[in-house]
Amino acid sequence: MLSVSAGRFLCCAVLLAPWPAVARAQNAEAKAPPVIDVHVHAMDGAFPGVAPMCPNTPKFTASDPRGKEEPFGCVKEECTPALYPSAPGEYIKDVVAEMERLNVTAVVFGDPKSVQKWKDAAPSRVIPGTSFSNGMAAGQRVDLEELRRDFTGGGFKVMGEIALQYEGISPSDPSVDAYFALAEELDVPVAIHMGTGGSGRANVAMPKFRGSMGNPLLLEDLLSRHPKLRVQVMHAGYPMIDNMLTLLQASSHVYVDVAGLIWSYPIKEVNRYIERLVDAGFEDRVMFGTDQLVWPKLMTYSISIIQNADYLTPQQKRDILYNNAARFLRLQTPQGR
Ligand SMILES: [Zn+2]
Repeated sequence: MLSVSAGRFLCCAVLLAPWPAVARAQNAEAKAPPVIDVHVHAMDGAFPGVAPMCPNTPKFTASDPRGKEEPFGCVKEECTPALYPSAPGEYIKDVVAEMERLNVTAVVFGDPKSVQKWKDAAPSRVIPGTSFSNGMAAGQRVDLEELRRDFTGGGFKVMGEIALQYEGISPSDPSVDAYFALAEELDVPVAIHMGTGGSGRANVAMPKFRGSMGNPLLLEDLLSRHPKLRVQVMHAGYPMIDNMLTLLQASSHVYVDVAGLIWSYPIKEVNRYIERLVDAGFEDRVMFGTDQLVWPKLMTYSISIIQNADYLTPQQKRDILYNNAARFLRLQTPQGR
């Protein structure tokens, strides 16, 4: 499910040097070091009417119920460079070209048919993910045995994006416990949306959304029922850093991704949040992600934020961009150490 959607546009300007240019300058022949993006959506749309997007909005505007209200509340500004949607029919091709250029492997989430399109387009770069929500309507669930087949014979590797927060439901709610029991039984990691929603998510765009259901500590009951469950807290529980750190301390099976928040909140705040996670000692459990859903250049833009973070050591950048996700997903030996 989307932390932001096609309606987010014209937010702000942050100019960052694209890091692949640096890599090329060092060695014209070298391939970019590998990156894992743990949070991509299996979109395949023309996105009609979506305007160019300015990442890292500098602020959210106040809203008045008497007027027309913006769904995300980003202040409207021009920016350079804005990120553009693909031409009709070109989106998957454009993103896969970026994945090749940037040497990215991605966990791609969606219904099995949508994910298969991505698998077909980039078999060696797509790690398939799917979940138990059946469509966008709240409370619609995939049959448990069908989901079991997706993971035992269908090649799916991660259960996500689990977006119960948009339904106003806690991840520890008993009504969905059988799905988490399945994930624990099959040793499949789960990826749960916790946190980010943009400004006005509940009162303007999605009335069932609850900010409080993104509290990372709501995962504690679930984790106590399923002690072997491996959890990816999507969007790192933003902005509830203290509760996020409390959960990371209490449960060492919990990782976070910085998708969505990395490009959609004010840049100073984004860096402060990531720095806080790292400074608290959890640099081995922070994973890079984009929440890629509309703009192909979002991937290079988001990678550049990690690459340009002066509070991270080169090793910490490698860990966030690759090694931590490789460990979480049990992919292969760490790289860059
Ligand atoms: Zn999300």
